Amino acid sequence: MAKVTEHLASSKGKPVFSIEIIPPSKGGKIDELLNAIEPMMELKPPFIDVTYHREEYIHETLEDGSVREIKTRKRPGTVGLCSAIMHKFHIDPVPHVLCGGFTKNETEDLLIDLNYLGIENVMALRGDIAKPYTYFKPMKDGHRYASELIGQISEMNQGRYLHETSSYLSSSNFCIGGAAYPEKHYEADDQDTDFEFLKQKVAAGAEYLVTQMFFDNKKYFDFVSKCRQHGIHVPVIPGLKVLATKKQLDILPKIFFLDMPEDLQKAVAAAADDKAAREIGVEWCVQQCRELISFGVPALHFYTMSKSTTTLAVARQVF
Ligand SMILES: Cc1cc2nc3c(=O)[nH]c(=O)nc-3n(C[C@H](O)[C@H](O)[C@H](O)COP(=O)(O)OP(=O)(O)OC[C@H]3O[C@@H](n4cnc5c(N)ncnc54)[C@H](O)[C@@H]3O)c2cc1C
Repeated sequence: MAKVTEHLASSKGKPVFSIEIIPPSKGGKIDELLNAIEPMMELKPPFIDVTYHREEYIHETLEDGSVREIKTRKRPGTVGLCSAIMHKFHIDPVPHVLCGGFTKNETEDLLIDLNYLGIENVMALRGDIAKPYTYFKPMKDGHRYASELIGQISEMNQGRYLHETSSYLSSSNFCIGGAAYPEKHYEADDQDTDFEFLKQKVAAGAEYLVTQMFFDNKKYFDFVSKCRQHGIHVPVIPGLKVLATKKQLDILPKIFFLDMPEDLQKAVAAAADDKAAREIGVEWCVQQCRELISFGVPALHFYTMSKSTTTLAVARQVF
């Protein structure tokens, strides 16, 4: 098993093919997911990211009129899925690890589990806002920002646990990734402020960054150039999504706070149906990938939603 940064370094200037998958909904079958992603193994991704889905809250009104808050998790199983990927495909899993929903002690326990499983990579994130709330609330004694979480993982990498720091304690050896936003994180006042916080993530120990999806390569090129100007020199892996339905034209900008290029918008809006929209999405992504490869990106990272078809349709043309 190896670290993401080692995979990038050993790819000899050629971009690496990598994917992100999501665990099945609770009660789903892991075999169905593994079968769904198996076709992508022909492209030999050296690592696979597995998202983490934090708890959600539902409110139930009781007979006496009081309201009970119930904590539920729709997509558990990130750690088990990572283990299954290692055993079935012999590929490095990259579990996502969140601030949201975790105390620092729980984070430490999770990292110990990952370490025992032989997992050497983690993507450290603040995490989405817990539904149905509209703002991010850290746990009491949890982390508020990804940079703090990265700091805790870096400490463990040096054998410093939360409440124990003896020389006999073994250190973990995680390669830590962080998230980056070519079109600015939606909560940041402006892009310069966002860059200052991104710099903190790297200073805390993030060894590489993966971007939010984007459909306009210029946003990525400008972003990488500004990273370098701000003294951020770690690899910046572009995150890509193949537009697969007409509806995604409206949904993706709303969920991920991104701009859809006008040419893509017009072409997809004029498409007769989803099949035609998907063909346009594939072709658009192929062109994006070719331009990104010419630019010299370290990897092309696909947000697959645990489906193979569109990612394969693109990747077979560009790798
Ligand atoms: C590659 C990738 C993978 C993802 N995977 C998941 C996943 O598996 N599960 C999930 O729930 N979500 C996931 N997300 C979504 C992510 O959790 C959200 O975008 C979240 O809102 C921000 O996470 P972050 O790690 O970038 O946060 P942070 O880096 O903590 O930044 C969050 C906001 O706080 C600001 N900020 C940072 N530090 C400070 C500071 N010290 N003081 C004040 N402001 C600060 C930043 O500018 C930004 O606006 C992913 C996103 C990406 C790009």
